[in-house]
Amino acid sequence: MEADQALNEISVEIISCYKCILSKSRKNAVPGDGPADAEVMFIGEGPGFHENEQGLPFVGQAGKFLDELLESAGLNRNKVFITNVVKCRPPGNRDPQEAELKACETYLDQQIAIIDPLVIVTLGRFSMAKYFKNARISRIHGQAAWVQGRYIIPMYHPAAALHQRSLRPVIEKDFAKLPKMLEKARKMKSKINTEYPNEEGNAVDDATQLSFF
Ligand code: URA
Ligand code: SF4
Repeated sequence: MEADQALNEISVEIISCYKCILSKSRKNAVPGDGPADAEVMFIGEGPGFHENEQGLPFVGQAGKFLDELLESAGLNRNKVFITNVVKCRPPGNRDPQEAELKACETYLDQQIAIIDPLVIVTLGRFSMAKYFKNARISRIHGQAAWVQGRYIIPMYHPAAALHQRSLRPVIEKDFAKLPKMLEKARKMKSKINTEYPNEEGNAVDDATQLSFF
């Protein structure tokens, strides 16, 4: 498949990327994992210890919790695409820095363009900031916004919910909304495709783009 091949090519680039300082300390870059035709894409923060060891996203503690959340939402992990805003581990799991986020962003943008998911779930503050600049996660988590032809749904990071017990029911409740959101996104997309059969990309007006529901 052409799209799979394009995704692979990006992974190959990432694995041999030296565009930021994280390349110096990484063991394995973590391009992301999942099929090119995924309807849902999850964007986390960056690889942690286990991800850096294995070259795969969300395989540690937070990953186990993410698996549970996916299952509870009736989503098969093999059918979603999972990646991060930075593809190499920040040393000691520190926050990714502005220069690193910027250097890495083109890979994520290319992955999004190829996969063209119906729904993007951002996990944590850093991927949320890609779409909602000065938003507070405590205010907008679990609310979908139509942005550039798809729903973006900001959610808490699973690791945050592991550290702060009170967030656990919150993230569980947000994940439980996913099947309905996905159904809504499918309908929205087919409506757009029917009404604007010759348009490329986002045919919804600006007013609709940033309205949460
Ligand atoms: N946390 C993240 O943000 N990403 C991973 O891949 C693993 C843990
Ligand atoms: Fe390249 Fe991104 Fe890794 Fe930095 S984090 S070296 S930009 S792949």
